[in-house]
Amino acid sequence: MKKLAACLTLSLAALVPFGQESQAATHFTDVGTTHRAQAEIYYLVEGGIANGYTSSRFIPEKQVTRDQAAAMLGRTLGLNGEPRSTEFKDVGSNNSASGYIQQLVDKKIINGYPDGSFKPGNTLSRGEMAVLIGRAFNYNSGSVSVAASSLMKKGIAQGIADGTFGESLTIKRGDFAVFLARSINADFRTANTEKFDLSVYVDTKDGTNLNIRTGPGTSYQAIGSAPTGKIVSYAYSVGDWAYVTSNNVKGFVHSAYLQLDKPSDKPVVTPPTSPVPTPPGKKPLSDITVVIDAGHGGKDPGSPGRGYTEKNVTLNVAKKMEKYYDKVPMKAKMTRTTDQYISLDARGAYASKINGDIFVSIHTNAHTGSGNGTETYYYTSRARVNPNVSQSKALAKYVQNRQLEAWGLTDRGVKVGNLAVLRQNSVPAVLAELGFITNSKDMGVMGTEAGREKMAKGLFLATLDYYYYYEGRTDVLPLYSTVNATPSGKLH
Ligand SMILES: [Zn+2]
Repeated sequence: MKKLAACLTLSLAALVPFGQESQAATHFTDVGTTHRAQAEIYYLVEGGIANGYTSSRFIPEKQVTRDQAAAMLGRTLGLNGEPRSTEFKDVGSNNSASGYIQQLVDKKIINGYPDGSFKPGNTLSRGEMAVLIGRAFNYNSGSVSVAASSLMKKGIAQGIADGTFGESLTIKRGDFAVFLARSINADFRTANTEKFDLSVYVDTKDGTNLNIRTGPGTSYQAIGSAPTGKIVSYAYSVGDWAYVTSNNVKGFVHSAYLQLDKPSDKPVVTPPTSPVPTPPGKKPLSDITVVIDAGHGGKDPGSPGRGYTEKNVTLNVAKKMEKYYDKVPMKAKMTRTTDQYISLDARGAYASKINGDIFVSIHTNAHTGSGNGTETYYYTSRARVNPNVSQSKALAKYVQNRQLEAWGLTDRGVKVGNLAVLRQNSVPAVLAELGFITNSKDMGVMGTEAGREKMAKGLFLATLDYYYYYEGRTDVLPLYSTVNATPSGKLH
């Protein structure tokens, strides 16, 4: 039983009771309820794909011509049918199918003849029909026999009595309507073997429901709907329309409202992966150096706690952070790469000596009690020493944010600190206290390789956030893609 055809017959019967012709529905006197192509002809007419010869006659027994076939296929695919002059000497803009013919030629679905003609009034053969439909619907159609076999396998066309496809025979309008309707809507086929094997999300962008229609176009009636976020199963496309199933309803939705990814409540910023030009007045990203300062070292071990020593933890995270700059044009330099003592003044001086641009110092906190959490310092008073106050404050916000994102520890906030390494510095500088080396919860992440890797990545992303938001550099965007990340929210 052809479910959809039956449904359509019912709705037409309701609209056209006993020859009382309603304006809303077309009724052809030569396509009665017992006609072999009745359901398919009215289906194509409902979608504006096929027309009668007159308002009351379809003439289903007349041979279909090449220009009629082109117009029906063009309307099926939603092409622009505006009549126009074409590349064929025998198809001018006075042919009402000229727009569809040229568009189908451009899409390599239909061809003319070697002599530069199209022969629009010639009848279409079954072989030509198979190739045309095969190309229009992306079936296997490398040759007439391959195309014919595709249509037979899909239950769209059968062979003829002699066991062949009858490729040189012509086709009547009624039969062409049957083949076209079956190609469009698998429910018309002798067997619906289409697999709905791709799951896609509905996203109408404006919160409305997406209509599921009986055919590929808005003139087809809606038989169901699906809300944004709903997963529907997809089988194939007809032009810009997708044949899907949702809650046991099979039908067509416009593919602009389908996507592979789950729709998000928040606008998703997808960073480009290809380079973005350097903004005017800025130096190239390849000239930017991030100075990574592993706190303490050598004779200055920093604070011990729970079997760990601060100077080792900071160096471990710093080395991991440095690696993230290997894949991007921005550079990273470390104040120390070994267990080495460096004075606080020398660390700040190093940033200016190597023409560093921003400075991130890595430390761990300590407390004799239950102190725990993450905090970030910048220097503000007596700005003549380090004048980069607003830059340092902004960087501190992005660093604190990414630290919290990485470890999820207590937020102790962004703080002002008169710390030598920040004060005796000539570039925007912050000091990150990752967590408390003395606290068991904090060490639950800090004490693991995976935890320190997460933190290193977060600190790298914080430096990108700074350049993206504070400096307003869009050329930083592709750098996020190197770690499958996106910019944080704007914080300063
Ligand atoms: Zn420290």
